[in-house]
Amino acid sequence: MSTRKTRRGFSLVELLAVVLILAVLAAVAVPLYLNTQANASRRTCSANVAAIAAAESAQALRGGAYVTLANLIGRSEGLAESPVCPSGGAYTCTVAADGSCTIACATHAAATQKVLAAPIADGL
Ligand SMILES: [Zn+2]
Repeated sequence: MSTRKTRRGFSLVELLAVVLILAVLAAVAVPLYLNTQANASRRTCSANVAAIAAAESAQALRGGAYVTLANLIGRSEGLAESPVCPSGGAYTCTVAADGSCTIACATHAAATQKVLAAPIADGL
Protein backbone atom coordinates (compact mmCIF):
# COMPACT_ATOMS: atom_id res chain seq x y z
CA MET A 1 0.00 0.00 0.00
CA SER A 2 1.36 3.37 -1.04
CA THR A 3 1.19 6.40 1.31
CA ARG A 4 1.93 8.86 -1.47
CA LYS A 5 -1.10 10.76 -2.74
CA THR A 6 -1.21 12.00 -6.28
CA ARG A 7 -1.58 15.79 -6.43
CA ARG A 8 -4.06 17.36 -8.77
CA GLY A 9 -4.31 21.11 -9.47
CA PHE A 10 -2.26 23.93 -7.92
CA SER A 11 -1.45 24.73 -4.33
CA LEU A 12 -2.47 28.03 -2.76
CA VAL A 13 1.16 29.24 -2.77
CA GLU A 14 1.49 28.55 -6.49
CA LEU A 15 -1.72 30.46 -7.23
CA LEU A 16 -0.60 33.40 -5.07
CA ALA A 17 2.73 33.49 -6.91
CA VAL A 18 0.94 33.70 -10.26
CA VAL A 19 -1.39 36.43 -9.00
CA LEU A 20 1.61 38.38 -7.65
CA ILE A 21 3.45 38.14 -10.98
CA LEU A 22 0.35 39.31 -12.88
CA ALA A 23 -0.10 42.22 -10.45
CA VAL A 24 3.51 43.34 -10.94
CA LEU A 25 3.17 43.14 -14.73
CA ALA A 26 -0.06 45.13 -14.62
CA ALA A 27 1.51 47.75 -12.34
CA VAL A 28 4.23 48.30 -14.95
CA ALA A 29 2.16 47.99 -18.12
CA VAL A 30 -0.92 50.09 -17.30
CA PRO A 31 0.93 53.37 -16.56
CA LEU A 32 3.07 52.87 -19.70
CA TYR A 33 -0.05 52.33 -21.78
CA LEU A 34 -1.79 55.41 -20.36
CA ASN A 35 1.32 57.54 -20.89
CA THR A 36 1.64 56.37 -24.49
CA GLN A 37 -2.02 57.14 -25.10
CA ALA A 38 -1.64 60.66 -23.68
CA ASN A 39 1.47 61.30 -25.79
CA ALA A 40 -0.28 60.15 -28.96
CA SER A 41 -3.22 62.41 -28.19
CA ARG A 42 -0.96 65.41 -27.56
CA ARG A 43 1.02 64.79 -30.77
CA THR A 44 -2.15 64.49 -32.85
CA CYS A 45 -3.37 67.75 -31.32
CA SER A 46 -0.02 69.36 -32.13
CA ALA A 47 -0.33 68.21 -35.77
CA ASN A 48 -3.85 69.68 -35.90
CA VAL A 49 -2.56 73.02 -34.58
CA ALA A 50 0.21 72.94 -37.20
CA ALA A 51 -2.40 72.33 -39.94
CA ILE A 52 -4.47 75.26 -38.69
CA ALA A 53 -1.31 77.41 -38.58
CA ALA A 54 -0.45 76.48 -42.17
CA ALA A 55 -3.97 77.39 -43.29
CA GLU A 56 -3.81 80.66 -41.35
CA SER A 57 -0.48 81.50 -43.00
CA ALA A 58 -1.91 80.79 -46.45
CA GLN A 59 -4.93 82.93 -45.60
CA ALA A 60 -2.72 85.79 -44.35
CA LEU A 61 -0.57 85.56 -47.46
CA ARG A 62 -3.64 85.90 -49.67
CA GLY A 63 -5.82 88.18 -47.59
CA GLY A 64 -3.25 90.16 -45.61
CA ALA A 65 -4.59 89.21 -42.20
CA TYR A 66 -5.38 86.20 -40.04
CA VAL A 67 -8.99 85.17 -39.52
CA THR A 68 -10.89 83.25 -36.86
CA LEU A 69 -11.14 79.47 -37.16
CA ALA A 70 -14.79 79.66 -38.22
CA ASN A 71 -13.82 81.93 -41.13
CA LEU A 72 -11.01 79.54 -42.11
CA ILE A 73 -13.25 76.52 -42.68
CA GLY A 74 -14.36 75.95 -46.24
CA ARG A 75 -12.06 78.48 -47.90
CA SER A 76 -9.90 77.32 -50.77
CA GLU A 77 -6.71 78.22 -48.89
CA GLY A 78 -8.24 77.20 -45.54
CA LEU A 79 -9.35 73.90 -44.09
CA ALA A 80 -12.01 71.58 -45.51
CA GLU A 81 -13.33 70.93 -42.01
CA SER A 82 -12.45 71.83 -38.46
CA PRO A 83 -9.82 69.51 -36.93
CA VAL A 84 -10.92 67.56 -33.88
CA CYS A 85 -8.66 67.21 -30.85
CA PRO A 86 -8.51 63.56 -29.72
CA SER A 87 -8.94 64.71 -26.12
CA GLY A 88 -12.05 66.72 -26.95
CA GLY A 89 -10.53 70.19 -26.74
CA ALA A 90 -11.83 72.97 -28.96
CA TYR A 91 -9.41 74.94 -31.11
CA THR A 92 -9.41 78.72 -31.16
CA CYS A 93 -7.61 81.21 -33.38
CA THR A 94 -7.31 84.52 -31.57
CA VAL A 95 -6.17 87.48 -33.63
CA ALA A 96 -4.56 90.13 -31.44
CA ALA A 97 -4.69 93.87 -32.01
CA ASP A 98 -1.11 93.83 -33.34
CA GLY A 99 -2.17 91.33 -36.04
CA SER A 100 -0.53 88.24 -34.54
CA CYS A 101 -2.53 85.04 -34.25
CA THR A 102 -2.58 82.53 -31.39
CA ILE A 103 -3.85 79.03 -32.14
CA ALA A 104 -4.66 77.01 -29.05
CA CYS A 105 -6.46 73.91 -27.87
CA ALA A 106 -8.68 74.22 -24.81
CA THR A 107 -7.50 70.87 -23.43
CA HIS A 108 -3.79 70.88 -24.20
CA ALA A 109 -3.27 74.66 -23.81
CA ALA A 110 0.41 75.62 -23.84
CA ALA A 111 1.59 72.11 -24.76
CA THR A 112 0.37 72.56 -28.35
CA GLN A 113 -0.19 76.33 -28.62
CA LYS A 114 1.29 78.13 -31.62
CA VAL A 115 1.71 81.87 -32.09
CA LEU A 116 2.02 83.33 -35.58
CA ALA A 117 3.67 86.73 -36.00
CA ALA A 118 1.69 89.47 -37.65
CA PRO A 119 1.86 89.32 -41.44
CA ILE A 120 4.17 91.89 -42.98
CA ALA A 121 2.58 94.20 -45.48
CA ASP A 122 4.59 94.15 -48.70
CA GLY A 123 3.72 97.73 -49.57
CA LEU A 124 2.73 97.05 -53.17
ZN1 LIG B 1 -5.87 69.22 -27.92
